[in-house]
Amino acid sequence: MSWYCAYSRGRPVHARYHDNEHGFPSSDEKVLFERLAMEIMQAGLSWDIVLKKRKALNLAFDGFRPDKVAAYGARDIARLLRDSSIIRNRRKIEAIIENARRVLAMRDTCGGFAGWLAAHYPRSRVAWVKLFRERFVFMGSEIVNEFLMGFSLLPGAHRKDCHVNEKIRRAIERKGRSDKICAIMKKDKRNN
Ligand SMILES: [Zn+2]
Repeated sequence: MSWYCAYSRGRPVHARYHDNEHGFPSSDEKVLFERLAMEIMQAGLSWDIVLKKRKALNLAFDGFRPDKVAAYGARDIARLLRDSSIIRNRRKIEAIIENARRVLAMRDTCGGFAGWLAAHYPRSRVAWVKLFRERFVFMGSEIVNEFLMGFSLLPGAHRKDCHVNEKIRRAIERKGRSDKICAIMKKDKRNN
């Protein structure tokens, strides 16, 4: 969403997000899951609404810790549907809970959510959407697209001339190094 570069200027909540999070890579399961949940919450609404409700959403969803959310039952769904500070949509809430369970399941099979993303990078937009639909629920193509762009797994987060691109490039470089270290450590573990 390269329009966001101009839009975020002069809007403090958005400027902070634009300058420090939008398009930046992450290997943190909680960060990835929070973003996936925010993209689901956004469906049919504006990013402005979701970002302004981010704090309330985090409070309501136990900081988007996948273990916590995966364990939610009917009582939690009822609590969330009563919470006027968040986006009260049963289908979205149930999808976020189900996706938390899917994230937990990834821990055993593919080196976690981050490992799964890294293993499938790069691929086309269409192929990503197909992959996400096999793995998660409530995956409209816009949700998948925005999620991936948000971590620079698909291009287009920022305008070509945006000052943040350089910061992101350095962050990807750092992440590339730690991913490599992680791969070496995993190999050592197997050899021992
Ligand atoms: Zn930008």
